[in-house]
Amino acid sequence: MSKDKDNRKCSFCGRDGKSVDMLISGINAHICDRCVDQAQIIVAEEQKLKQKNKIPSFKLLKPAEIKTHLDKYVIGQDDAKKVLSVAVYNHYKRITGAPKNDNTKADDEVEIEKSNIVLVGETGTGKTLMARTIAKMLHVPFCIADATVLTEAGYVGEDVESILSRLLQVADYDVSAAEKGIIFIDEVDKIARKSDNPSITRDVSGEGVQQALLKILEGATVSVPPQGGRKHPEQKMVQINTQNILFICGGAFDGIEKRIASRLQANAIGYNVGKEQQAIDKENMLQYVAPQDLKSYGLIPELVGRLPVLSYLNPLDKDALRRILTEPRNALVKQYIKLFEMDNINLRIDDEVYDFIVDKAIEFKLGARGLRSICELIMMDAMFNAPSDENKNEIYISLEYAQSQLKVNNLGRLKVA
Ligand code: ADP
Repeated sequence: MSKDKDNRKCSFCGRDGKSVDMLISGINAHICDRCVDQAQIIVAEEQKLKQKNKIPSFKLLKPAEIKTHLDKYVIGQDDAKKVLSVAVYNHYKRITGAPKNDNTKADDEVEIEKSNIVLVGETGTGKTLMARTIAKMLHVPFCIADATVLTEAGYVGEDVESILSRLLQVADYDVSAAEKGIIFIDEVDKIARKSDNPSITRDVSGEGVQQALLKILEGATVSVPPQGGRKHPEQKMVQINTQNILFICGGAFDGIEKRIASRLQANAIGYNVGKEQQAIDKENMLQYVAPQDLKSYGLIPELVGRLPVLSYLNPLDKDALRRILTEPRNALVKQYIKLFEMDNINLRIDDEVYDFIVDKAIEFKLGARGLRSICELIMMDAMFNAPSDENKNEIYISLEYAQSQLKVNNLGRLKVA
C-alpha cells in the first residue's frame, strides 16, 4: 500500500483508514463505511419526510368519470355505480373544496354534510369491489371491517375503534391520510336489532354496536390504539378525526324484499290503488329499497340517518357471471393468460369452457367468488406441469379437458350446503 493511501482520512468524520473497515475515495475526498451507513439513514429519513409533506396529487374526477372508471372493473350494477359516483364526488368535493366559480359566492353558512353510503345486495355481487376500486382510483387508504366481529366497548370482541387502527396501519401511520380514507363495513345487516322493539337488556352484538358505530360515522375525534387491540392505559393513543372518512356499509339484508313489498303495498292501498302496483317489478324488489326498510329490518333510526346514501346491487345472472370471467380489467381469464405468458406460454380457452364454468358456479351456488375456485381446479394441472416443460409454448383448454379436470379435482367439495 502506498504511503499516500495510508494517510487517507474520511472527509466526513476524520477517521483514518486504519480505524474503519473501508474508505472509499472520490476525486478530492474520502468517505468511510460508517459515514456511508449514516448518510443512507439521513437520505431515507429525508425522503420519508418529503413524502409525508407532499400534497397528495388528488385529482377529483367528475361523477361520470368515476362511473366510467368503475365500469372497467365492475360488471353491471349501473344504479349503484351512479349513486356511488355522485356520493364519492360530493364527499371529496366537500373535503377538498370545490373550485370556486367567480359568479358564485361561497356561502360559509352552508355546511355540506357527509355522504356515508349503504349498499344492499346479495353477497358476492360487487359491493366490496366497488368500494375498493374507488379507493384505489382516488389513492386514499382503504380498509374493510367486518361488522359481525365488532362489539360494544367492554365486551369480548373488537372495539369499534379497531377499525380506525386498521385504517391508520394501511395509511402507514400517516394520520392526515387516514383521515381522508374509505372504510368498508361489511355485513352491517348482521348487527340489526333482532326485534322491532328496542330491548331493555343490552344487546351486545346488535344495537350496542350500532350505537358505537354512530359516533365514528358521524364525525368525531376518536382516541385510537395505533397497534390495534384493546386500549391499554400504557399504550400511546393517536387522535383520529373521522369527519372526512367516507364509510361505505354493505349488507345482504336477507329477506328485506318482503319488507319492501309490504311497504309498497301499504302505500299503494293508501294512495294510488292499482296503478302503482302494476308498475312494480316483483322480480327485483331491491331496487325499491328505502331507508325505512333498513329501519324495519333492525337498524336503529340514528344509524340509518348517518347513512344517507342508499343503493342496491342486482343478483348476478348467467350473463353477468360470464362477463365477469372475461371482461373486467382484472378479469380472471386475463390473469391466467398473463401468468402463462410469464412462462412464454400462450393460453387458449375454448369459448364453451366459459359457459361451463358459469353453469357450474350457478349449479353449486358459488356466485362470482366461485368462478375463481372453479378456474383454479381446471388450471391446476396445467399450472403445475407447464413451467417444467421447456418445449411447451401453448396450452389449449377444451371443454372436455375442463370437464375432466373438475371431475379429477372433485368440484363437489366446493358445494355450498
Ligand atoms: P360483496 O358484494 O360480497 O362485497 P365482492 O365485491 O367481494 O362481493 O365480490 C367478490 C368477488 O366477485 C370480487 O372480488 C370479484 O372478483 C367478483 N365480482 C362480484 N361482483 C362483480 C361484478 N359486478 N363485477 C366484476 N366482478 C365481480
